[in-house]
Amino acid sequence: MGSDHIHDCQTSLKLLEAEHHLLSHKQLMERYPFMTFEDGHEGVVELSTCGLVNPRKLVKAQRTAAHLQGCDIMTTIVDQIYENCDEPLGSKILSVVTANGQIVRSRKVLLCTGAFTVTKPLLPPHLLPDIRLAPSQALKLEVSADDLENLRGIPMMEFWRSKDDRENGYLCPPVTYPNGKTYLKIGHERLGYFERYTDVAEWYRGDGDQEVTEKLKKSIHAFLPGFEPLSFDVHPCVLTATKNNLPYIDMITPQIGIAVGGNGEGARWSYEVGKIAANMITKGQWDYDLPKDNFKVQFQDQIVASKL
Ligand SMILES: Cc1cc2nc3c(=O)[nH]c(=O)nc-3n(C[C@H](O)[C@H](O)[C@H](O)COP(=O)(O)OP(=O)(O)OC[C@H]3O[C@@H](n4cnc5c(N)ncnc54)[C@H](O)[C@@H]3O)c2cc1C
Repeated sequence: MGSDHIHDCQTSLKLLEAEHHLLSHKQLMERYPFMTFEDGHEGVVELSTCGLVNPRKLVKAQRTAAHLQGCDIMTTIVDQIYENCDEPLGSKILSVVTANGQIVRSRKVLLCTGAFTVTKPLLPPHLLPDIRLAPSQALKLEVSADDLENLRGIPMMEFWRSKDDRENGYLCPPVTYPNGKTYLKIGHERLGYFERYTDVAEWYRGDGDQEVTEKLKKSIHAFLPGFEPLSFDVHPCVLTATKNNLPYIDMITPQIGIAVGGNGEGARWSYEVGKIAANMITKGQWDYDLPKDNFKVQFQDQIVASKL
């Protein structure tokens, strides 16, 4: 890892009072004998407070919790949201139009629609949040039963190997997926942004960027020179970046709120963001011990927004 990055990690860990150790190159090689670390590299290992979240189980748990709290869950795409103008004064109703033609009528709507918040007419066109969408890709490498014994001990790690962010990123230990196969996963740091929102769908349907795939394979080979995956899959995905790297949790109109902008880190704080946003929309006021302004939405067109 780069020394600046090591320093930043240590500063955060100290602040959070998380148990951790700084390991020299020699100590890294001793602790993880089945891995290789380049000369001069050092690492910070967090001992008791780090771990791995299974996103499929996380989403399942969150949906179950919502269901148990009385939510009805509809798995359909929302094509449009509009405000009914013909309601009596003081009782405006929103119409949420789904792709299968249903219309759900509601007094309030909270959008938690990630990268797709701006790609469908869900918000008034002059009140779009200022988010930038970044292409990202992960590589899943299938692990054989023979390799699994050794690779089980791989830590969940962030790595910093070079000035090229295609060679910096994260490595997840072997995980068994719903298809019964076990994979290592590796991904890279943020590289840039889409110029047009319309490029997103094409990116999701494609095979990622070939050069990035090769760089990710190079990083795996650097850490695990003897590992021969049975197969590999490229997974294109998209990160939603806000202006200040914090999620926007705010009301866009008196009736429509948003909780958007994971900045590539939204899974870990999803419970808390959900809690803040649910409080905001149901209570109609900010109810949290961090300032509201930290999460204030910034609009694509500040001039129009400032007139509100
Ligand atoms: C490869 C990869 C690795 C990552 N690793 C980590 C990590 O290690 N730790 C971490 O904390 N975060 C990580 N993240 C980031 C994390 O996954 C995101 O920040 C998080 O999922 C954002 O949550 P969200 O609810 O805002 O948006 P999303 O998870 O994108 O959820 C939005 C939901 O809204 C739905 N939706 C959108 N539009 C509509 C519509 N019109 N109608 C109906 N439904 C709609 C979508 O289908 C989706 O289910 C990673 C992301 C990627 C891509």
